[in-house]
Amino acid sequence: MFYLKHKGKKLEIHDDNVFTRCPQCGKERVVDLQEILSSGDGDLYGTAIFCSGCLEKHKKEIKLQELGLHTSEIESIARRHNTSSDEVKGIVTSGLEHGFDVKTCLIGARLALSLSDGVEEYFTAEEAAAVIGTDEQTAVQEMEKADVSPARITTLPGFEWLLGK
Ligand SMILES: [Zn+2]
Repeated sequence: MFYLKHKGKKLEIHDDNVFTRCPQCGKERVVDLQEILSSGDGDLYGTAIFCSGCLEKHKKEIKLQELGLHTSEIESIARRHNTSSDEVKGIVTSGLEHGFDVKTCLIGARLALSLSDGVEEYFTAEEAAAVIGTDEQTAVQEMEKADVSPARITTLPGFEWLLGK
C-alpha cells in the first residue's frame, strides 16, 4: 500500500482521491492510478489525461489535418464531378464525423457523387478493400461474387514500364 505524507499527516491513496486536470480545458477529474499504471504506457509525470470532450475534439483536429494532405485529390474529385472542393470536403467531413478514416471517406465521396450525377468512378482493388475492410484478394472475390468483374489496366506493347513491369 502507498500513501502520501503531507506535514506529517498520512493520506491513503484510493481510486477516488487522486485527481488530474485536462491539459486542454483544465477540467478536474478523478483518475484511477491503478488503471493508468497497469495500461503500461502511463507514468506519474508524463501522462496527460484529456477529458472526453477534449479528446474527441483532438481526434477530429488530427483527422482534419490529415484531410489537408489530400487537397489535390479533393480538387480532382470536384473537377470530375463538376462541383466545388467545398462540397467534396463537406461529404468527407461528415464521413469523418461518423468515425470513418480519411481514405474511406474520400472513396465514399466519389461513390456518392458518382451515384448522384452518373459520372463513372473507377475503384482499385486496394480502395475496395479499404471500404470493405478486408485484404485486396478478398475484396476482388467479394466483387466477383456480386457479379462485378474487375477491369485490368493494360497498355500498348512496349510501354509495360509504365505499369512498372
Ligand atoms: Zn478538457
